[in-house]
Amino acid sequence: MEEIKKGRIIKGIAGFYYVHVPHDGVYECKAKGIFRKDGRKPLVGDDVELKCLDVDKMLGNITALLPRKSELIRPSVANIDQALIVFAIIKPAPNFNLLDRFLIMMQSQGLSCTICFNKSDIADEKEIEEIKQAYEACGNQVLFVSAREEIGLEEVRNAIAGKTTAVAGPSGVGKSSLINKLCGCEMMQTGEISEKIGRGKHTTRHTELFAAEQIGDETYLMDTPGFSSLMVFLEDKSDLCKYYPEFDDYEVNCKFQGCSHISEPVCGIKDALAEGKISRLRYENYKLLYEELKAQKKY
Ligand code: GDP
Ligand code: ZN
Repeated sequence: MEEIKKGRIIKGIAGFYYVHVPHDGVYECKAKGIFRKDGRKPLVGDDVELKCLDVDKMLGNITALLPRKSELIRPSVANIDQALIVFAIIKPAPNFNLLDRFLIMMQSQGLSCTICFNKSDIADEKEIEEIKQAYEACGNQVLFVSAREEIGLEEVRNAIAGKTTAVAGPSGVGKSSLINKLCGCEMMQTGEISEKIGRGKHTTRHTELFAAEQIGDETYLMDTPGFSSLMVFLEDKSDLCKYYPEFDDYEVNCKFQGCSHISEPVCGIKDALAEGKISRLRYENYKLLYEELKAQKKY
């Protein structure tokens, strides 16, 4: 009797798909005839049915692709629910413009974001307060944690349990350390270890999911090292406002319809900024990205 199992593709290499079957293990599978049958290529993140061919060697064949909830284009991966964006409060000091780019990139692909500021153990109150003020109204959950001292990890676990989460952030902020602490195992190679063995951390560039069964059932994390050159692409530069929800309340005071909040007179956003109701840091990011979008496309 051939047994049919259900699992999720966590990795694809050279025609093989690696399928994680909960409470069982990872099966190395082919996907013979799937394209003909379902009219689409399996993606990392796809839920599949597989026929087990060899229990001991954990070999199988994918027999069906289950419905896909969503699909990201960059990177190409299915069924990502949300993003966890990790920055350090200090060391390295956050590049807030890069943070906003991450947020816009994730949100414009339909993902909600949790921002995780790491290294709270070595930050002082002033640095934390500055970030809190700038991002409290940005429309995303903001957490302050320390992977090293295991501060605030429970909140992160709650945010990712039962979901598939893309983890993104610049290098050196402690993503790997955080993931390892969250899972209670050495899931990811940290900077310290890669220094020891003298090899770069992200030598492999393929998309891969990690099953985090220690955190919960159906909990997967995706490491996303590829987000280094982050041009923001939006259909229309006036869409940029959508990613700055803290502007919403003040837009009624703008004199001009379609006000860009940059050079127009009588602008509710600029007034709110002058009154300290909108974060200058966030506004400056907005302005920079707006100019960038303007230069990208001549309308
Ligand atoms: P990644 O490149 O984002 O995956 O970062 P790593 O996890 O490799 O960590 C980069 C460096 O930051 C390492 O030297 C870690 O030991 C250190 N680090 C990570 N988390 C913390 C933290 O919460 N506090 C402090 N002080 N250092 C940390
Ligand atoms: Zn305006």
